[in-house]
Amino acid sequence: MGSGHEGGAGAPGGGEFYSPLYNPDTGAYRFLIDGEWRDSASGQLVHNANPSKGNERCFGFQACTRDEVDAAYAGAKAAQRQWGRIPLNKRASMLKAAAELMRQHHAPIADALIREIAKPKKDATTEAKRSADLIEYAAEEGCRSLAKGDMITSDSFPGAERDKLCMAHKVPLGVVLCIPPFNYPVNLAVSKIAPALIAGNACVVKPPTQGCVSALMMAQCFKKVPGIPAGLVQVVTGRGADIGDYMVEHPGANCISFTGGDTGLAVSRKARMVPVQMELGGKDACIVFPDADLDLAATAIVKGGFSYSGQRCTAVKIVVAFEEIADALVAKVEEKTRKLTVGQPEDDAQITAVVSAASADFIQGLVEDAVAKGATMRTEWRRDANLIWPCLVDDVTAEMRLCWEEPFGPVVPVVRVGTEEEALRYVNESKYGLQGCVFTRDIDRAIGIADRMETGTVQINGPPARGPDHFPFQGVKDSGIGSQGIVNSIEMMTKVKTTVINLAKPSYATA
Ligand code: NAP
Repeated sequence: MGSGHEGGAGAPGGGEFYSPLYNPDTGAYRFLIDGEWRDSASGQLVHNANPSKGNERCFGFQACTRDEVDAAYAGAKAAQRQWGRIPLNKRASMLKAAAELMRQHHAPIADALIREIAKPKKDATTEAKRSADLIEYAAEEGCRSLAKGDMITSDSFPGAERDKLCMAHKVPLGVVLCIPPFNYPVNLAVSKIAPALIAGNACVVKPPTQGCVSALMMAQCFKKVPGIPAGLVQVVTGRGADIGDYMVEHPGANCISFTGGDTGLAVSRKARMVPVQMELGGKDACIVFPDADLDLAATAIVKGGFSYSGQRCTAVKIVVAFEEIADALVAKVEEKTRKLTVGQPEDDAQITAVVSAASADFIQGLVEDAVAKGATMRTEWRRDANLIWPCLVDDVTAEMRLCWEEPFGPVVPVVRVGTEEEALRYVNESKYGLQGCVFTRDIDRAIGIADRMETGTVQINGPPARGPDHFPFQGVKDSGIGSQGIVNSIEMMTKVKTTVINLAKPSYATA
């Protein structure tokens, strides 16, 4: 894992704003603790790789120690006590200032996303800007919703008098551990940080190895806001395999918000008695009925299946086509798939390298298994290092791994079915239950099947999607615990506190 300080690639762009993050002597990025950018006492670095440049070294960053994790939690708790006493409207203004800084300084973040995770240029820019919008929305939403509480009188309970008034309001949980995945290291970090902060919490963030520097830059946008206490957003870096368990099991974590793959199953078992929010993998099905608008469905399948090379939790990961229209649908999907551009993220190619060689090998293994068991390739298999050309695999059956496993790459499998019961099998027998989508012109049929699909969300006549970011977003089964989206995350990152006023005599006795 770590290596000595022999350097990594790339000082940040963006001039003075981002320059404190980088140590030219070590050639590596620092971590953020108590408002300071520091080198780790470990003297060790972790390097990530550039997926689209043959996995050559990309950025170096700190392999933090357990003592530094302890210090991050302690500093966050101290900052939280201060932050929680700042009026809500002022907290909201400071978050809006962070959003504005992110908009102003988005270009270096987008550049880092291109290099660390091969995100196409346009999508990388969108991620940075959408994150700023998310922070702003969370600030406004929290300012309204957190101002409200309940006042409950005692006399509704049998035998009770009206001599107690209970005021119930929302208070922060304390320190929220935020662990985002590689595919949206900025957006899925702020989707945790912004609701946590507006609710009065502090955050300790563990960025993904691929995507670490983009996340560090995001943190600078919070750190630079005047009035935000030092230590409110702490960023501890290192490989999850080295420091993840220690951070999850740490008594300083009062809440855990995790997004990622099956790692999350282990994280949820290790979490102490704290609320956990888990957004994990998915195998989102797209069910296309015989009466569907096939052009609409084909466009959604190609967009949903291949955006960011299929590396999205809500990508279309299996198409379930009724026999009557399967040939016509697959022909349309194939035509559109062949038009996708393949290449470098800097050139804004639609299909870029997947995140690692291991991921590309895994994807290839799924496709080879399917072909060996009789699946039909509708596009030619082609791979150059991590770059996999978009791959449409027809005649997939339940015996094939591709039918059930999440490729997390540019591969769209198609199964053909004769009945609604058969279609539902590919949704409800999956270990995942994130989203699904249904294409039909019959709204009764759509609602009927949506009710029977064991998923957190069903999209009717549109591809699976997480956004807009204030919609509730949740998975069932191995796809997650709890519900998020801005509104629900604010709710989840608070708890109810009650203050009871005991009157000397029932209030109506004074009349
Ligand atoms: P991952 O391997 O599970 O990693 C997710 C995060 O967990 C990374 O920051 C990782 O750090 C960290 N981690 C690793 N080991 C840990 C440990 N022992 N304790 C605590 N944290 C640890 O997932 P990924 O490959 O980055 O992301 C892809 C997966 O995320 C896919 O399955 C996708 O479906 C899922 N995803 C789900 C959603 C959703 O909303 N449901 C959204 C996006 C992605 P390192 O990188 O340092 O290992």
